[in-house]
This record gives sequence, structure tokens and C-alpha cells, in this order.
Amino acid sequence: MTLNNSKIHFILLAGGNSLRFSSNTNKLLVKFKNKNLLVHNIEFIKELKFKKITLIINKLKNTNINIFGDLEVIKGGKTRSDSVKIALNKSKFKSKYVIIHDAARPLNSQKLIKNIIKNLLEKNYDCVVPYTKCSDTAIFGHNNIDREKLKLVKTPQGFIKNKISLLHNKNKIKLLTDDSQLFRNEKSKFKIKYLLNNEINLKITYKDELVSLNKLVEMNTLVGIGYDIHRIIKTNKNNLLKLGGAKIRSKVKVISHSDGDVILHAITDSILGALSQRDIGTYFPNNKKNLNRNSIDFLNYALNKMNLKKKMINNIDLMIVSEEPKINPHFKKILESISKKLNINKNSISIKATTNEKSGLIGSGDFIACWSNVSLREN
Ligand code: ZN
Repeated sequence: MTLNNSKIHFILLAGGNSLRFSSNTNKLLVKFKNKNLLVHNIEFIKELKFKKITLIINKLKNTNINIFGDLEVIKGGKTRSDSVKIALNKSKFKSKYVIIHDAARPLNSQKLIKNIIKNLLEKNYDCVVPYTKCSDTAIFGHNNIDREKLKLVKTPQGFIKNKISLLHNKNKIKLLTDDSQLFRNEKSKFKIKYLLNNEINLKITYKDELVSLNKLVEMNTLVGIGYDIHRIIKTNKNNLLKLGGAKIRSKVKVISHSDGDVILHAITDSILGALSQRDIGTYFPNNKKNLNRNSIDFLNYALNKMNLKKKMINNIDLMIVSEEPKINPHFKKILESISKKLNINKNSISIKATTNEKSGLIGSGDFIACWSNVSLREN
């Protein structure tokens, strides 16, 4: 489904006071997976190509929201409902629909957003409320509540904008915890869709929640190291060398049973290492079948194993040591090739190149070596 998100105004609420978070920092600035909760949300909304985005903020210092450029930033009110009302009344954005979301939820789902939009645009609901079922035993006082009847209400929620604006402007309830309540209070007048969504959509309220969430991610990080070295010989003509899958012209020639791509070999071994799966030689011995073999085959073998384990590359750090060929003139080409072959962003790849200062066999120009260090995370 291609989203036509120009019709939709997205309001992100980051104006809370984090009273229950028991930390001196605002919880939205505390890091989860190397980014604070606010950045997680803004990046998520931008990825979905929303153009009309309003951020409601109170007094967050050091948020670095300038990096997101074209956001509309409005100062919120004393309560959540005040903040939403201010956003709806003061925003410069005109639109038929609005999505309202709490920035304290970092585990956002594209699927959920698409579903909300579908219900607003195609099924003409006035209010779309995602919820999960309660899987724990629920009690009130000493008595059990029938959990089958319980709905745990989440954000993001979607609305017809003029309807929610009217409701907020006449609202007298100070402590609204979500916006759908205004529609639910007058349920006979509105078309409300309750959207069952069982994906984890945790709202970070207590510090311990964020601590456990970070632990969960950390536990699943794997790292691997790979090293490869090949003999090179100097020639008088231009040869085509393979480095990181890119073809480089050079006066030197790599001696190898396969195509001699020292970078791809090191990367392959580092991925296999992170997966505790031995090394290239185990799967691709120096036999006839692997003579002059394209190193992409080795890499794809390792990537396939990685995909089967539902892992993805978090980042990769490469160190190439050679006198010849010089890496820097080909840096961009190699980086682009590796990014393409690994299907990861260039920002997640580091390529460092050095000579061996004329020392040893690498320094005398007889060998080229490469180290690769990779980290994998849950996909
Ligand atoms: Zn090799």
C-alpha cells in the first residue's frame, strides 16, 4: 500500500513531565538502542513520509531537534489534553485527518500506522483506537476482572481532525490519558474502530521498563572477527583486482585459489564467527569446484546463515593493510559495493586503510591483509 500521507497531520506528544520515571533526565532523552525515545519516534514518522508533523514539547533541553529540520514545534500545556488542544488549535497544518501519538513509545509499527490510515481513509471511521488484550490476570481490589472484556488502549490513534478539534475545545476533563476517550464518552454519535494490535507497543513510564528493554536488545547482540591475507605480485600491466566486490585497476595481482577478494573473505569469516559457524575454508575448501570462485558466493552463504538465524548486521568495521594497491583512491567505490552486497547503510560501514610502514612481508608489498569486525543484532 502506498501511503498518501499528505492528507494526514501527525502530532507527536513529547510534553510529559516524566514524574513516574524516577530519574533526573526527561525519559524521552534517555537512550534506547543508541537513540533517545524522541529521535526514535521522529525518525519513524519521517520514514513513513509524513510531511505535516507537529512536535509538542515543554522544556526539553539538548533534544537536538534541529537536525529534523522541517518539524513544527509547539510548546505544550500543563496537561496532556491541554497540549493536544493547543496543537490542534495552533498548528499551521490543515488536513482532514490527524494521528496523535505519545513519544514515550519507542517500539513503533509501520503495520499499525497503515492499518489506522486504512480505517480512517477507506472505512470512514471517526476514531481509530489500537488496543491489546490483557494476558495477565486482572484484579480490582481482591476480585478478578474478566480479562477477555479488557482492552489496553494504546497510541498512535487516528481521528477525523475537525471532529476531535471540536471535542477537545468543549472538553472539561482535565486528566485525559488518551484522546479516544472523548469519542467513547459520546459513542452513539461517532464511528469508533477498536483495532486489535498484538505487537509489543510498550509505553515507557518507569525507568525499569527502559532498563529491561535495553537489556533485551543487548543480549541479542553478536560480534565476530575475520582476518584474511593474500600474496600479491607486481606486474607491468593493469590487472583487475576485486576488493569488497568492487573491481579495481592495479599493477599488482592477487594470488588466490578463488578470486582473491581479501575484504569479502574477511567479512564472510567475521559473519560466520558471529554466528559461531566456523570459517570459509570449512564450507569452501581449495578444491576444483572453488577454483577462481566468485567471493560473492562465500559472502552470500554467510549472509544466508545470518538471515536464517534472523539476525542483521548492526555495523561493520574493516581494516585493510597493504602497500599496493592504495585503498584511498578507490574508497568510495569499495564502500558502495560493500553497502550493496551487505544490503546495509553506508553509515554502518567503516573502512580503514593503512600501510605496514615497509615492515614485514606486508610492508615489502608482497601481501595484502584485511581484518573485519562485525556486530549482528535481531532482525
Ligand atoms: Zn582469502
